[in-house]
Amino acid sequence: MTALNKKTVDDINVKGKKVLVRCDFNVPLKAGVITDENRIVAALPTIKKLIEDGGKVILCSHLGKPKGEPKPELSLAPVAKRLSELLGKEVTFAADAEVVGANAKAAIEKMADGDVVLLENTRYRAEETKNGEAFSKELGALADVFVNDAFGTAHRAHCSTVGVTEYVEESAAGYLIGKELQYLGNAVENPARPFVCILGGAKVDSKLPVIENLLKKADTLIIGGGMSYTFLAAKGYGVGTSLIDESKIDYCRDMLAKAEENGVKILLPIDCTITKEFPDPIDAPVDVKVVDADSIPADYMSLDIGTKTAELYANEVKSAKTVVWNGPMGVFENPILAAGTIAVAKSLAETDAVTVIGGGDSAAAVNTLGFGDKMTHISTGGGASLEFLEGKELPGIVALNDK
Ligand code: ATP
Repeated sequence: MTALNKKTVDDINVKGKKVLVRCDFNVPLKAGVITDENRIVAALPTIKKLIEDGGKVILCSHLGKPKGEPKPELSLAPVAKRLSELLGKEVTFAADAEVVGANAKAAIEKMADGDVVLLENTRYRAEETKNGEAFSKELGALADVFVNDAFGTAHRAHCSTVGVTEYVEESAAGYLIGKELQYLGNAVENPARPFVCILGGAKVDSKLPVIENLLKKADTLIIGGGMSYTFLAAKGYGVGTSLIDESKIDYCRDMLAKAEENGVKILLPIDCTITKEFPDPIDAPVDVKVVDADSIPADYMSLDIGTKTAELYANEVKSAKTVVWNGPMGVFENPILAAGTIAVAKSLAETDAVTVIGGGDSAAAVNTLGFGDKMTHISTGGGASLEFLEGKELPGIVALNDK
């Protein structure tokens, strides 16, 4: 699947039309302050293009998980403010608890060509994540044309990504979606080899299924972070109180066998950085020990790869021509448990290979460490980039009009 067979913002005429743009403004916030604005910056090219073309630009997005009700701490108001600064132009924020309410309608009524309005968090509405008809219709009624540029949510069929397309004249993809599909598509369909995939992070159940598809494409699969302990358990190792998905142990065993059949190298941790308890708060000082991967005591949990593993993984990256990385190697939010993630990030920063980072946390780790500009592409989508790598169709892209 590529964006190329779908209409893009270059194929539509928006002059004088109301354009609803689904962006991915799901940015991390700390006490109302945006701590990583990458996703806002990534949305700018499409927004600027629609402003220049004389559209009335109505933006919408979700932020966090308000679970279908207004939560002031998850309001998009701080995004409207930052977006106004980045665009150098006022962005009117329509603060409606029901998203499409009196404020939104009045603001849109007043719009001149090239004006920008931002709606409130779409997930304030419970129907949003169920792709409900009523909210899809309300969103569609605001606009003539729909543009989806929210790559990070393209793997979800929601009102603002899929349902709305039924109620507008035309729907097209934005530049960000086009760029994401180009980089991710090239990386998996036509990779320069050796092609090394690094998987880590905590969402074990959603990430393990990707492995089967990657085994058909990658030359080496490196596993770290919370993912690795189900594999170590599959090898018969005790993993103490480390993160594990018991129901996937057999699956991991099958994957290890399949890798051998396909001639794909799987690298697992050979040593682990362990603690007695999970740090609370997450960045609190912790006492750590490094032990061999087959020697994690029953009352310890592993929260980072060990030093020998970090060296092994970094060395493997050195010989790669394409590297795709999703998910940190450990609890990188804690400086004492960040060494594995830093070592891997550094190895990616130092290679000439094509490097693609997928996943909010991996992207945050790379940016915090100052390696962002050393990567070929940092994807704005965690789950979406994974599902794409898995070979699945993304409903938010399928729903757009063909060229
Ligand atoms: P996303 O999918 O949200 O875009 P991501 O793919 O980068 O992000 P996640 O799967 O969300 O990553 O996992 C990141 C989290 O995994 C971090 O908060 C980190 O602390 C945690 N993590 C990493 N290793 C471990 C571990 N060994 N035990 C527990 N948690 C871990």
